[in-house]
Amino acid sequence: MTEDARPAISIDPVTGRKVFATRAAPASDRIAGRGYGVVADERLTVFPDAPAGARFNAEEQARYREFKEARRGAADYMAMEGEFAKYLRDVYSADPVPREALGDECEIVVVGAGFSGLLLWYKLREAGFDDVRFCEKGGDVGGTWYWNRYPGIACDVESYSYLPLLEEMGYIPSMKFASGFEILEYCQQLAERFGFYDRCLFHTTVERTEWNEASRRWTVHTDRGDAMRARFVILANGILTTPKLARINGMERFQGHAFHTSRWNYHVDLEGKRVGIIGTGATAVQVIPELAKVVGELYVFQRTPSTIDVRDQRATTEEEYATWPNEPGWARARRARFARISAGRTAMKANDDYLAGKVPDFKERKVHERELTPQELIEKQLDSNFRIMEQIRARIDAIVEDPVTAAALKPYYPYGCKRPTFHDEYLPTFNLPHVHLVDTAPRGVQEIDERGVVHDGRHYELDVLIYATGFQWMATSTFNMVVGRDGVSLSEKWQTGGTRTFLGVHSAGFPNLFIMTGPQGGGGSFNFTDAIDVHADYAVWMLSTMRDAGYEVVDVETEHEDRYAAHCREVDIASAPLRDCLSYYNGHGEAEPGSLAYYGGGLWHRWRTEAQETLAPYVFG
Ligand SMILES: Cc1cc2nc3c(=O)[nH]c(=O)nc-3n(C[C@H](O)[C@H](O)[C@H](O)COP(=O)(O)OP(=O)(O)OC[C@H]3O[C@@H](n4cnc5c(N)ncnc54)[C@H](O)[C@@H]3O)c2cc1C
Repeated sequence: MTEDARPAISIDPVTGRKVFATRAAPASDRIAGRGYGVVADERLTVFPDAPAGARFNAEEQARYREFKEARRGAADYMAMEGEFAKYLRDVYSADPVPREALGDECEIVVVGAGFSGLLLWYKLREAGFDDVRFCEKGGDVGGTWYWNRYPGIACDVESYSYLPLLEEMGYIPSMKFASGFEILEYCQQLAERFGFYDRCLFHTTVERTEWNEASRRWTVHTDRGDAMRARFVILANGILTTPKLARINGMERFQGHAFHTSRWNYHVDLEGKRVGIIGTGATAVQVIPELAKVVGELYVFQRTPSTIDVRDQRATTEEEYATWPNEPGWARARRARFARISAGRTAMKANDDYLAGKVPDFKERKVHERELTPQELIEKQLDSNFRIMEQIRARIDAIVEDPVTAAALKPYYPYGCKRPTFHDEYLPTFNLPHVHLVDTAPRGVQEIDERGVVHDGRHYELDVLIYATGFQWMATSTFNMVVGRDGVSLSEKWQTGGTRTFLGVHSAGFPNLFIMTGPQGGGGSFNFTDAIDVHADYAVWMLSTMRDAGYEVVDVETEHEDRYAAHCREVDIASAPLRDCLSYYNGHGEAEPGSLAYYGGGLWHRWRTEAQETLAPYVFG
């Protein structure tokens, strides 16, 4: 079934190019929801002061270390394969639109139709690149916001800065932190407005992408039997897109309903049911308050608590609706101001006066009598980080009534080391009589059987089990097989020689390949669409440069790549004390420094600008 009456593949009479109509119809009209609402009780939105004189002293450092070491090795995740592959099924769309396999050629194939794919299309089109084709695993656009439709889902970054192209679309989000459902609709509107749907092959997973040196083309193989040739391939397939499961004995035996949060099953009626949720990361923090409103009994299985900061959700004001459309450049200026905020909590809290341009800066800058050494700077940052964590912990004591539950909810690691979360309803949920925190620290749930979860000798009978166990991080460029010049895949190259890229975008031996927001790819801020924006700009700049100069192929010099990879490693090591915990950001303590995210901030722009000015890192053909 398709939403569109046109054939799945037809020829545009003007351009002679193929156009597609493969967007799938929604699977069901039950799939609907909202994000988090505005909390009226002001006590829940207060961030208590830190105790006077709070310092990250030796005793506190030892406590953090103990907390971390007790969990070392406990993160044992597995891919959804074999009998667990059922958890990956696309539950949001009707069956794929039937179509013939494609074996033709186009200029650019982009993998993914999330914000990266959408923004790329907008910019490529503006720059005059028209022969572009997108492949998307899901049945519609949105990426993260297509797959994640759990109750309570909302943007964690203020949506006025997160949603790109607001002015071009004439759109103002309804809430400061818009719901995921609103964001998905926005993506669909973007796709409709700019003709994206004609370009995208939905329900099409790229499985293997191979470079052919003789023809100087990539061949893109998909699960629909396609073998398309393309001059350029852009991987826009996301950093948190492949869900994972914690490996727990007996998972396959559970007889009730079970699903992962990124494939929410709206056909399971949760009303009055005994529901268990495994995981207390960023997704769970948004889901749990909504689940508690519906279910009979809720068991929250927690290994490591998140940091639960104040949210302060609000609706867009009448004044904003009235004034913004009359302020040309308002959204672009706001996004640019947001990008200047370098500290996690400050960015996520998003000071409205600063972002609206009413005050010049988001904080009062401290002036030190002399320049601090890097070591002194880290110590200062760790002290102020510790004070934020003391406030996070004090908020738990102020809200959660049962002292044992409150103690279990307290995190002991540097703020921002795991993904920070924000919610004003999460903590009070644990005061409800039918909500039970099951503290499985430090090793996590050990066993599941036919009827529920077993932990510490107690059996928790469940009707429904929800896995809030997260996603693979930063596997963007390696989870689909990309085979370069020497017949070596990207993952093989990186496994043997360490992750090596230039700007996170190119990797030597993989000509005409661009990686969006992958490992070592900086340039963004806490706002992910900002990183997407700059990577898309960079890719379009390179494509335009090549077109203007008549170049067919671009690769990078290994010497430049090695220097850049070494730089990523140095930056990672220098800032590591601020991320001294086990988290997916650092491969649960196993990742090589510099092999995943890049903490270079403005440094990435320096490397990029220099490369664009000198063209020295590139080998053109
Ligand atoms: C629950 C959740 C909440 C988030 N909240 C925020 C937030 O508040 N603020 C923020 O800045 N960031 C947030 N993020 C990060 C978010 O992923 C980015 O903001 C952004 O949406 C990423 O866009 P993208 O297009 O790069 O990737 P994605 O949105 O992940 O899209 C990639 C697409 O590629 C497709 N794909 C993957 N592999 C293949 C393949 N082999 N073949 C074909 N298609 C493929 C996927 O199906 C997916 O649709 C959140 C992430 C998650 C998971």
